Amino acid sequence: MELIYRRLNESINIKQSQRLPQRGVKRLVILGGGESGVGTALLAKQKEYEVFLSDAGSLKEVYRNELQAAGIEWEEGKHDEKRVLSADEIVKSPGIPEKNDLVKKIRKKGIPVISEIEFAFRYADDSKIIAITGSNGKTTTTSLIYHICTTGGLDAALVGNIGESFAKQVALDPKPVYVVEVSSFQLDDIVTFRPHIAVLTNITEDHLDRYDYNFENYIKSKFRIIENQQAGDYFIYNNDDEVTNKYLNQFKIYSTKLPISMRNENNAAFIKDGDMYVRTGDEIMKMSIYDFTLKGKHNQYNTMAACVTGATMNIRKEKIREAVQTFQNLEHRMEHVASIRGVEFINDSKATNVNSTWFALESMERPTVLILGGVDKGNDYSLIEDVVKEKVKAIVCLGVDNRKIHEAFGNMVPVIDTASAAEAAGAAFNQADKGDVVLLSPACASFDLFKNYEDRGTQFKRAVIDL
Ligand code: ADP
Repeated sequence: MELIYRRLNESINIKQSQRLPQRGVKRLVILGGGESGVGTALLAKQKEYEVFLSDAGSLKEVYRNELQAAGIEWEEGKHDEKRVLSADEIVKSPGIPEKNDLVKKIRKKGIPVISEIEFAFRYADDSKIIAITGSNGKTTTTSLIYHICTTGGLDAALVGNIGESFAKQVALDPKPVYVVEVSSFQLDDIVTFRPHIAVLTNITEDHLDRYDYNFENYIKSKFRIIENQQAGDYFIYNNDDEVTNKYLNQFKIYSTKLPISMRNENNAAFIKDGDMYVRTGDEIMKMSIYDFTLKGKHNQYNTMAACVTGATMNIRKEKIREAVQTFQNLEHRMEHVASIRGVEFINDSKATNVNSTWFALESMERPTVLILGGVDKGNDYSLIEDVVKEKVKAIVCLGVDNRKIHEAFGNMVPVIDTASAAEAAGAAFNQADKGDVVLLSPACASFDLFKNYEDRGTQFKRAVIDL
């Protein structure tokens, strides 16, 4: 047995070492030294590229150490333009926008630019790739799919925007199944990336600042997740999502479509009278939505998408059911913080756009004080006007510039300005009565007052406990 394993390993090693860089491509420059950039550097070094990583900011200590240990050259605090522009191929961090001066020069020179997932895909061999994208619900759906896969006995890795980069996983610990969370920025620079299963959770306005404030550009970018799919691959999407449905027919789709819905039974999964139905081969799996550990309507969509994925991966329905019942909710997403003198506090700091705040409010069953605000990525607050009218008794702004929020809701409910998590928690508590909910669901990015959404959520939770 051991001999078989050794032979297997040897043959894998031979196969990998034969995979030299694409013909003509030798000098690889990586722009951006975050998780995806460093992962790419490690994989590229292993595949015998001449690697140089360049970051205009500073690198985290842990990444410096990883590069050093692998003998990879890098610079930080600047870009050696000449060296960057002499690359044969460039892997650009998803965080660097097209309007960046150096990127403009690279484009002008015509150097091929790809994203980290494209690079990792080159070396993923015959592994099965499940890729999840969408405006909201990516991390939740990706995590649940991973949980279903591992509960079902598959040897899978959870990678992408969540956790380790896809490239690092391929370099250090290749797996037969990768569950990859994919952002639209990563999709912008793919060429051949082809997931066996593509999941598109939904499309709503987000990140418009990176797409010239053109929603169609962003939509096209999301749909690129299916552009290289072929017959034998699968595309799971939300049939009730207006934008997805409207644009679906504009793209060539070669994979099998597996839509999910709460409105119509003629889908791969649907919910009716409190039960979810999932087609698994010739059978139907039925499960009560009250057994889902993930609560709220949005999470019913996420759970349906994950279950269809599990069924498509031939995981037994008992195992899918078990996974859905044992999944642990993620921090900063509709997370119960505490109940203080009859007021419940919920941390939904991860809601960084209007749509996710809509879903959060939609699931509220008691009068709500909403904490809203931060860095607005082109928000249209009219989308939550109705649900605010119906459920919200006061709005507490948590941001530097709150003008748009005052304009949108000033005539409707009291709107109070605050500039720290502690102030916001205090002001919201003052507005709330026993039996009410205080919901932090900001519809905005956080970097005017916080490091990131985790920092915002953590500070909020601490402030609540200190009340
Ligand atoms: P992403 O990774 O796409 O940002 P998350 O799973 O981290 O998504 O959830 C982000 C926020 O969006 C959470 O606040 C959550 O309440 C909301 N959300 C989650 N799933 C959905 C969905 N399917 N539709 C709309 N909003 C959602």
